[in-house]
Amino acid sequence: MGCLLCGRRQEDPVRVPSPWRRGVVLAPTARQVLVCPQCQDDADWTEVLARCERCDGTSLMVRFGEISCRRCGVVAARAGRTTPPDPDDAARLALRDDVAAAIERVLGRTPGG
Ligand SMILES: [Zn+2]
Ligand SMILES: [Zn+2]
Repeated sequence: MGCLLCGRRQEDPVRVPSPWRRGVVLAPTARQVLVCPQCQDDADWTEVLARCERCDGTSLMVRFGEISCRRCGVVAARAGRTTPPDPDDAARLALRDDVAAAIERVLGRTPGG
């Protein structure tokens, strides 16, 4: 796994306490990510990470598809800067496509030829 922000590969062996930080992003799907020490110099580097609803920490992990906080074990997290797509929006878009298709059917396509 590379750095979430710059894509750099982690070179240190995993068992050595690493300056790399783990976190979780929620979009497009909840997944575990790593951020390299260089990118941690950026004051905003945690902005993209999901945060624990209870302690506001970014030390989250994804396990069996669920998000849990290393500090308090809660499985609820809220998104950082990047918010996942609103399910309502997706439904609306799907509906719009359906309506467009229905209108097309009613009006009928111009006979070819
Ligand atoms: Zn990086
Ligand atoms: Zn927490």
